[in-house]
Amino acid sequence: MNVNRPIKLYNSLTHSKDVFTTHEEGKCGMYTCGPTVYHFAHIGNLRSYIMEDVLEKYLRYYGYDVKRVMNITDVGHLASDADTGEDKMLKGAKRENKSVMEIAKFYTDAFFSDCAKLNIKTPDVVEPATNLIPEYIEMITKLIDTGYAYLAGGNVYFDTSKLDKYYVFNDQAEEDLEVGVREDVFEDENKKNKADFVLWFTKSKFEDQALKWDSPWGVGYPGWHIECSAISIKHIGEFLDLHCGGIDNAFPHHTNEIAQSESYLGHSWCNQWMHVLHLNDESGKMSKSNGEFLTVSLLEEKGYDPIVYRFFCLLSHYRKTLTFSFEALDNAKLAYDKLIQKIAELDVNEADALDEGAMEQLRMRFNNSMCNDLNTSMAITALYDVLKAKTNDKTKKYLLEEFDKVLSINLIEASDKLKAEIAQAKAQEDAKLTPEIKALIEERTMAKKEKNFARADEIRDELLAKGITLKDTPQGVEVIWN
Ligand code: AMP
Ligand code: ZN
Repeated sequence: MNVNRPIKLYNSLTHSKDVFTTHEEGKCGMYTCGPTVYHFAHIGNLRSYIMEDVLEKYLRYYGYDVKRVMNITDVGHLASDADTGEDKMLKGAKRENKSVMEIAKFYTDAFFSDCAKLNIKTPDVVEPATNLIPEYIEMITKLIDTGYAYLAGGNVYFDTSKLDKYYVFNDQAEEDLEVGVREDVFEDENKKNKADFVLWFTKSKFEDQALKWDSPWGVGYPGWHIECSAISIKHIGEFLDLHCGGIDNAFPHHTNEIAQSESYLGHSWCNQWMHVLHLNDESGKMSKSNGEFLTVSLLEEKGYDPIVYRFFCLLSHYRKTLTFSFEALDNAKLAYDKLIQKIAELDVNEADALDEGAMEQLRMRFNNSMCNDLNTSMAITALYDVLKAKTNDKTKKYLLEEFDKVLSINLIEASDKLKAEIAQAKAQEDAKLTPEIKALIEERTMAKKEKNFARADEIRDELLAKGITLKDTPQGVEVIWN
């Protein structure tokens, strides 16, 4: 698509909407932090994946050759993001009395099944963290050799004091950034600096850590952060164009990814960082640790099409915190159903020519919205602009189909389905019209024409007794079954 304006995207590194550029013209290496597969994804996690999916699809629509890579965290993510607490995978395995690998397989499959229901495309490369142990060891070895990492108490730590600037996303005080540290979790005394983080664990609090590998520093397992650096560098190379994740990933996870990647590579790594703000429930933060949480399956059990949830997410900007309630979802459903109804009412004449002038105008509205920091709610408004435009229905349907390649809310499939359902219902009604009833309707039409209203009323009452109401419309007589 030849879009005559640059894409502007908010960049967490510069705190401004920057013109999106890539290292190699026309190509985009995109990395997304994947799920920790110890439980089902909640619909908050999926908000991040929906918005990242729209961004990827828009970049493709715009003309970029995108290579999207995602990890699957199946080792190393501890209960606290600050390298303390229990390994989340082990916690999941204990909860369900299964092995860690069984848990990882089950919840990886469940994640992609949810994604499919939400029209989230599977990334070009999906790499489980446990696949790349030799790569982590190679990276960590180099970080030790170049003085960026040290061994203490059996673990390998990244030395954040070696960096000119560690807190790359903001200039907050260190104490303010202690996210995810609970009171019952002790500060790791091996660390030289408070912000240092683990690259490789050998001395874990957990004797029963299920997955362990041999390494130059002893049998152990990688820290959470190293996986995303190594997976991205392996599949995308030394320069990453775009890194995405939920806002909670900015610190410490992404901050640590940058620290270790740039120290390893010896140059800057990724210049564009996109963070999706959280979806909260009405009680506050959405969390998996307190048992019951909102999943795609739960929405389905309550009768919602998962695509309505996708539509609900698109109605808000990704950089605004979004509060979920069933009332808000119902409103989105109403709006979605109305939109689909309007599309189903389009009467396409295949013989019509596509209206190039109208297409240019309408595409401009869609692109202006998407290029303005991925303003998906304005892009949805552009769909209504298409429906209201003074042009033929063939052009309207063509454009809606085109924009839906980015938005992925089943505009054409759902409206075709609705049309087929209406046609089927009408056919069923028509099939109930016996020759006798048809003759009576015909006779009533004639009687009315001849101004024999007494006979016309008689027939109307006769049909009413058979459960049929006749409604006179400008298009003719409509038969309504009572
Ligand atoms: P996790 O499975 O915890 O590693 O998280 C997977 C993705 O979901 C990460 O990109 C998180 O930043 C993101 N995420 C976590 N909680 C939320 C939330 N409430 N709303 C939106 N995204 C979230
Ligand atoms: Zn990551």
